[in-house]
Amino acid sequence: MGKTQPIKSINDIPMWESIERERLELMVCSQCDTFRYPPAPICAKCLSMEAEWKAVSGRGKIVSWVVFHRKYFDDFPPPYNATTVRLEEGPLIVTNLVGTEPEGSWIGREVELEYVDHDGRKQHAARIVD
Ligand SMILES: [Zn+2]
Repeated sequence: MGKTQPIKSINDIPMWESIERERLELMVCSQCDTFRYPPAPICAKCLSMEAEWKAVSGRGKIVSWVVFHRKYFDDFPPPYNATTVRLEEGPLIVTNLVGTEPEGSWIGREVELEYVDHDGRKQHAARIVD
């Protein structure tokens, strides 16, 4: 199995470029200020096609997580987690928790994004801060 790589589209290239600069910029509707994540050509709230990119704070709370104990990809040896974080700006992102994994439920724990190297490129990861 080969290495996993992000699948980039014309709608999300600025986001991937921002991650390489160790920040997370997401698409925001220019008309109604609603975040569009995943990035999309049209706002789901007001149907505007205008958008800009804004950096998010990187702070959020865990809303779901799973630890995989089976190997699916060579570059993600088990056990590894997939963690869903509700950013304080509203969007839900899927990332990996780094650092000490909590005992019991992870839900509701406050996290901050940081950036880690993965096969020569950056990816975001969440670390518990509460
Ligand atoms: Zn809008």
